[in-house]
Amino acid sequence: MGSYEDFYRHSLDQPDAFWAEQARLIDWERPFDQVLDASRPPFARWFVGGRTNLCHNAVDRHLATRANQPAIVFESTEADQRRQYTYAQLHAEVNRVAAMLRELGVGRGDRVIVYMPMVPEALFTLLACTRLGAIHSVVFGGFAAHSLALRIDDARPVLLVTADAGMRAGRVIAYKPLVDEALTLAQHPPAQVLVFNRGLVPGTSLTPGRDVDFATLGAKHEGARVPVEWLESSEPSYILYTSGTTGKPKGVQRDTGGYAVALAASMRHIYTGQPGETMFTASDIGWVVGHSYIVYGPLLNGMTTVLYEGLPTRPDASIWWRLVEEHRVSVMFTSPTAIRVLKKQDASFLKRHDTSRLRHLFLAGEPLDAPTHAWISDALPATQVLDNYWQTETGWPILGPVPGVQARPRKLGSPGVALYGYRVKLLDGLSGAEVTAPNQKGVLVIEPPLPPGCLSTVWGDDERFVSTYFSSFETPVYNTFDWATRDEDGDYFILGRTDDVINVAGHRLGTREIEEAISGHPAIAEVAVVGVKDDLKGQVVMAFAVPRDPTRLQREEGRADLEREVMDTVGRTLGAVARPARVHLVAHLPKTRSGKLLRRSIQAVAEAREPGDLSTIEDPSSLEGIQAAMKARGPRE
Ligand code: AMP
Repeated sequence: MGSYEDFYRHSLDQPDAFWAEQARLIDWERPFDQVLDASRPPFARWFVGGRTNLCHNAVDRHLATRANQPAIVFESTEADQRRQYTYAQLHAEVNRVAAMLRELGVGRGDRVIVYMPMVPEALFTLLACTRLGAIHSVVFGGFAAHSLALRIDDARPVLLVTADAGMRAGRVIAYKPLVDEALTLAQHPPAQVLVFNRGLVPGTSLTPGRDVDFATLGAKHEGARVPVEWLESSEPSYILYTSGTTGKPKGVQRDTGGYAVALAASMRHIYTGQPGETMFTASDIGWVVGHSYIVYGPLLNGMTTVLYEGLPTRPDASIWWRLVEEHRVSVMFTSPTAIRVLKKQDASFLKRHDTSRLRHLFLAGEPLDAPTHAWISDALPATQVLDNYWQTETGWPILGPVPGVQARPRKLGSPGVALYGYRVKLLDGLSGAEVTAPNQKGVLVIEPPLPPGCLSTVWGDDERFVSTYFSSFETPVYNTFDWATRDEDGDYFILGRTDDVINVAGHRLGTREIEEAISGHPAIAEVAVVGVKDDLKGQVVMAFAVPRDPTRLQREEGRADLEREVMDTVGRTLGAVARPARVHLVAHLPKTRSGKLLRRSIQAVAEAREPGDLSTIEDPSSLEGIQAAMKARGPRE
């Protein structure tokens, strides 16, 4: 094993040689002419002229050596189902779904929205899309009709693929009615909807002329073979929407060749999964972690991927460890919140199963607090627990450990060092000057070009890509919108967001989106939404709303009803993920004299901290109102 320092330097000093070497980890139908085209900064095109296909690399490529190895093991503790697919079976299923999509008119460059629970058919659909050169866009099942409609209108899909329902904690969550509603809300609804009926909602109706039954169409295409559509490396593979500071989610656009290479390389250097081994990523296909490490990463690497529909605590808190034992999992990936959930349970659940094969447990999506890191490390003595830091935009880690290159001592509270390909810097938040001294706070930025795998643009909006990510400082650097420090050894520590994004259990939510949803309630005049520290979920959503009728503040009973109604409005409009934990009715919101909401001060008071600089506040008593509201009782989630 060489030194990571050399490896890292090589990636930055000779990017062409470094990435050309990594590109050998995947198959190319046509070799690339140029490793990197950075002639139009900050845009970067990787492996220019090369032709490849994600589905070929994730599935077909393995048939010669792994046809009978399990590719997907599926278990649902919700629907009480287990299924397993070898690579040969996965190949057959993906071909069948590709034939179905083709019959429905899906072709290269067309968008397909996937609004599906964690079932194998969702994976078949994603892989079928990439096989055809179509662009998938998964919308997380926890999003409601309005959120789905926004994404439909931005992506303008030719087809939406859904299921009758998902399940959570034993409850059936009907998807189809939400889809029906989203299609009436959308300006550009797809002409067709493919519905996978799991039999969870009796009498799920299909709209004639629009809806197609998955099983019926599938029966027609049993045994079908659909050739792979070879794409130029920069052609998009998928769009994944993520929240920012505006009300409109951004479509993170991923390329094809760069993403395949980045994931294959990350499996080797960071996640250290060997072909033939099993990886279990406990996340959801609706999030970037699911895209990269449930679906594409493990399959590109010839591994078996565990697809689990269910909670970590049902039927009891040993379920994950049973899966680890049964499927001989060697690499696992989840979020710190999930571990904090387990930490509340009896530690003996972790001892019921043989977890000795589990080499690594990776955690990402939100800060990993030291007590949680220490607890899970003690509970799994044979396993190294490793933090890693990244974003929907990057598709794979920016900071992390590199056990495949060089083992480094674990530092509690740090996700690790800058990963190969990323020229990471810390900049002073005001002056933009580089912060070079150790342990000084700065904004974490990446100097372009971004390495392979990172977003190539914002779907349909190059201008937004540049203005959102590369325009914060005088020099055009990619802004992560996170504060960080770096110590003498080069290990980074993430301190939190620089913007108003809220991170609930590793899921990113935009304050503005939630505020817009609440403003839609006829009884609310104004609202401020902030993220408030929470022991379990990292942060929870809290809303401070001013009612149109001030007398509502006086009436105790009506007040609680309105607070609950506001929560319901958010749940209905955006989905359960965005539902506030608390809504407080207040008389005024703290603002500057120029009318800008003082969200930071509201957040500080809600977290029982000092409100900070109040020299610009219009009415200091408004903060007392926030304080008083925090003490009052009211409905909680
Ligand atoms: P998302 O794009 O939804 O995955 O959210 C990305 C954001 O989550 C980052 O910008 C960070 O604020 C936060 N985040 C992700 N991973 C970590 C980590 N390992 N430590 C601290 N924060 C993290």
